[in-house]
Amino acid sequence: MMQLQNFIGGQLVAPAAGRYLPLVEPATGQVFAQVPDSDAADVDAAVQAAEVALPAWRALPAEERGRLLVRLAELIEQNLDRLARAESQDNGKPLSLARTLDIPRAASNFAFFGTAAQHFSSEAHVQEGVAVNYTVRHPLGVVACISPWNLPLYLFTWKIAPALAAGCCVVAKPSEVTPYTAFLLSGLAQEAGLPAGVLNIVHGTGPGAGQALIEHPGIRAISFTGGTRTGQHIARSAAPQFKKLSLELGGKNPNLVFADCDLTEAVRTSIRSSFANQGQICLCGSRIFVERPVYEQFKAEFLAQVQALTVGDPLLETTRQGALVSEAHLQKVLSYIDLAHQEGGRLLTGGHRVQVPGRCADGFFLEPTVFEGLAPDCRVNQEEIFGPVVTLTPFDTEEEALHWANGTDYGLSATIWTRDLTRAHRVAHQLHAGVVWVNTWLHRDLRTPFGGMKNSGVGREGGLEALRFFTEPQNVCVKL
Ligand code: NDP
Repeated sequence: MMQLQNFIGGQLVAPAAGRYLPLVEPATGQVFAQVPDSDAADVDAAVQAAEVALPAWRALPAEERGRLLVRLAELIEQNLDRLARAESQDNGKPLSLARTLDIPRAASNFAFFGTAAQHFSSEAHVQEGVAVNYTVRHPLGVVACISPWNLPLYLFTWKIAPALAAGCCVVAKPSEVTPYTAFLLSGLAQEAGLPAGVLNIVHGTGPGAGQALIEHPGIRAISFTGGTRTGQHIARSAAPQFKKLSLELGGKNPNLVFADCDLTEAVRTSIRSSFANQGQICLCGSRIFVERPVYEQFKAEFLAQVQALTVGDPLLETTRQGALVSEAHLQKVLSYIDLAHQEGGRLLTGGHRVQVPGRCADGFFLEPTVFEGLAPDCRVNQEEIFGPVVTLTPFDTEEEALHWANGTDYGLSATIWTRDLTRAHRVAHQLHAGVVWVNTWLHRDLRTPFGGMKNSGVGREGGLEALRFFTEPQNVCVKL
């Protein structure tokens, strides 16, 4: 059986205690590999390797650091098929999605930040005839990057790339549920010629390796993407050591469909924003509010397209819905379907586990599911389900739609469908969401600030924001 290894000091190494955890393929329910169950000793070795590598890495001109990252991007592109297969096997997502979204984006992350580091500049403040102040942005040092299972390599590299570009050395922990592509990245980092110890990858559980990492005194900053509760825990653990924090957390995103919109396009894109990656994207729009005059038409067209989504083997080109990431997560999503019934929801389609014949007979598949008739303040409309379950609710006025859209503890993203330009801006500015899309969804420009309001996070990733996060500004004042 394949055994994954940690990547420490430029070498692939076994966990010090020799403990491993089984890695399950969600589409088959079968164990296909073992992943290190690392502990504090492995984390410490990784932090030490990073500390040794730091002086030379931070002293390297940004252009040379960037060249290595761009090389890594090229290697990811050259290994697209291998990485996409690994991602699909590990996560359950359709191979077609891994090939067109996850892996290309991982390459873009390195290419983007590899070049961005060369465009990064700092400010100068001149007091005429008196003094000149200028800002030096120093790399923070050794930082931790912790990422979740839903977009494994995509989100892992979204953190690592800016940290390395900024001149930091990294100890990264991917989710233990989906570590395969992070392990493959170790080999590509070696091939790209990344100096030993600049990037270290330690596999293991959140409470084990993750906790040891966030508590380690050698870690200066933590960039975390994951659940809101884990984010709260990390903030509590990191506070006594004053570690810098970037937290990208959960969402319960509204999708507002106004009657004047291009309904065909709104339905087509809402299928994606509801069910892409089996609804396991923090940006999925799980609460769909539709203006009453077009509610029935939207519902009919939406349901017809939901029912046409093929659930099945992620390796087949025809598959649109793969497996959920684990049996435990499938059970969690099913419990919310039960709750939706208890809370008085009307099931419009889906709602059941799917038995896929053949090699996927024991996989974790679920029908894409739509409810209506649920109050905006019920638990199903308030709590993050993170699966292929959405609710439909009609609204009568813009004020009502905004009130419901903003009526959760989350504030990650929102989508607006309208042809009225004035309304689009007016509504966008009143939404409590870090990212607002108008007549589109998951349209990403890596230069833009990315992150959530309220319980969806603290800080912003993306573009120069990420490079600012991984650096410490220092003001130098020179008397003239
Ligand atoms: P978790 O919060 O459970 O885990 C995220 C990562 O944190 C994993 O690597 C996990 O390890 C690790 N972890 C858990 N406990 C600790 C700890 N005590 N110390 C350090 N690390 C720890 O999230 P999920 O993996 O379940 O991911 C789903 C969540 O991520 C959803 O809430 C989703 O909304 C959110 N998310 C947010 C995004 C955003 O950009 N805002 C984007 C994508 C997802 P392990 O898994 O090995 O236990």
